[in-house]
Amino acid sequence: PIGGIQQQPLVVNSLIDHAAREHGAREIVTYWADGTLERSSWGDIHLLARKMAQALVRLGMGKGDRIATLAMNHMHHLAAWYGAAGMGGVLHTVNPRLFDEQLVYIMNHASDRVLLFDRAFLPIVERLRPQLNTIEHFILFDSAAEGDYLGFREWVGAEDGHYSWVELAESDPCGLCYTSGTTGNPKGVLYLHRSNVLHALAEMQPDVFDLSARAVALPVVPMFHANAWGLPYAAAAAGAKLVFSCTNDATVLWKLIREEKVTHSAGVPTVWLSMFADLDTNGGDYARLRHVVIGGSAAPRAMIERLMRAGITVAHAWGMTETSPIGTMGARPYNWDDMSFDEQVDMVTKQGRVPYGVELRVVDDNDEVLPRDGTSSGRLQIRGHWIIQRYFEAEADAADADGWFDTGDVAMIHPDGVMQITDRAKDVIKSGGEWISSIELENAAMGAPGVAEAAAVGVPHPKWDERPLLLVVRKPGSSVTADEINAHLVNHVAKWWLPDEIKFVDSLPHTATGKLLKRQLRDEYKSYKLA
Ligand code: ADP
Repeated sequence: PIGGIQQQPLVVNSLIDHAAREHGAREIVTYWADGTLERSSWGDIHLLARKMAQALVRLGMGKGDRIATLAMNHMHHLAAWYGAAGMGGVLHTVNPRLFDEQLVYIMNHASDRVLLFDRAFLPIVERLRPQLNTIEHFILFDSAAEGDYLGFREWVGAEDGHYSWVELAESDPCGLCYTSGTTGNPKGVLYLHRSNVLHALAEMQPDVFDLSARAVALPVVPMFHANAWGLPYAAAAAGAKLVFSCTNDATVLWKLIREEKVTHSAGVPTVWLSMFADLDTNGGDYARLRHVVIGGSAAPRAMIERLMRAGITVAHAWGMTETSPIGTMGARPYNWDDMSFDEQVDMVTKQGRVPYGVELRVVDDNDEVLPRDGTSSGRLQIRGHWIIQRYFEAEADAADADGWFDTGDVAMIHPDGVMQITDRAKDVIKSGGEWISSIELENAAMGAPGVAEAAAVGVPHPKWDERPLLLVVRKPGSSVTADEINAHLVNHVAKWWLPDEIKFVDSLPHTATGKLLKRQLRDEYKSYKLA
């Protein structure tokens, strides 16, 4: 060769190696479910992760095996991410808020071999265990052994930590997360070592999460929501302090923010509403909080304004499980200082621009690319280093031949590159950051006696962002009531999926081929006030 530069595989364990070597004493704080606070460090987590890798190998786990977690955010969960990845495994974060059938489907589909679960989810595990066909080992993640369940600390405590990560290629998988924000069964997004490392590098940037060694980050977003938006990786790269809480109780979160001197936090809009409510009741200040990421659903203008008035930088983020999840960020443009306060709030209320590494475009119904003129609205597509290629074990790619992935969102792009979500093409309702499938709700309702047809639409809700409204056409001669329909639904869907209101109508609009015209319904009910 005439010269050159070294090439090392971009593997996630290099992130924690760096954190332990350069920021070993930097703290990792956990507020456990039982209310105790535990202090550890990047050095401690590095050791714990190596012990866990050894323990997994001892159980017979090997390259590519799926290790599942059903857990809140805590130091053991962090260690497990790196421990599983470092022995070649795939850490599968399972969302405990899904309902039983989905949980069973997901864990069987992933062929998980080990399940690490928090004590709070013991009832779920006990209930579903007979249907979990592939799980050989169940381990209590945050508490001591109980019944025939081993405790995490004793399990890894038997190891000495003398372990070197296995050699991996950057194209090897390290994480798995299912999304239910699509039609049909949940789909698995398989994250690669390389994609997660590149995502972490992008995330640290000033116009993204603005992380540094001085940062103290509290991810309110759960680790089972698209990797806590990448914070456990990016914080390792930056050497930031991490603060985890097993509860989303606003009083606890404020206490942690003040006592641990939190500078950065991230969560869905519903979280910030409960934080504001607590602040209004109990008073207190923002202490050192200076950078807040809000995403997962559109952040309301008033929320952004309130935080900005308190001197906090608000980064309004758009992304998906399929995008690792960072897509765009409502960062400050070059002319920020010349804008009025209202203009600044307007700017952040849009979903923002992409960082280096991903590209966006909007297309019309004929797949023609639309201009970035701030008025042409179309299907939003994305491609880049951390955007999905193919769902786990799917037959075909999710992205087209040029890498474009159709997000199911409808948006426009302004001439300055700022993206603005205007609608959703996918038929789902997002409540408090979690998905409700309109189609499943409709199918369940259609099974109720006296129901001829049903349509579920998401309508705006002050606390949950969206809640389902169920429109029902009665069968001729039927006088079925809302209570009777709800009594039927409760046996088929999760309680939090139950519609906030059931409204009886004479007919529903259809396409020429007889499909429900959901777009028209969503439009019609977009300002509907729930009873
Ligand atoms: P996450 O776990 O990050 O919430 P999901 O894959 O569950 O990711 O949901 C992604 C979807 O949520 C997007 O396709 C979009 O419909 C919606 N979404 C996410 N962020 C925003 C935002 N800032 N504004 C509007 N919609 C958003």
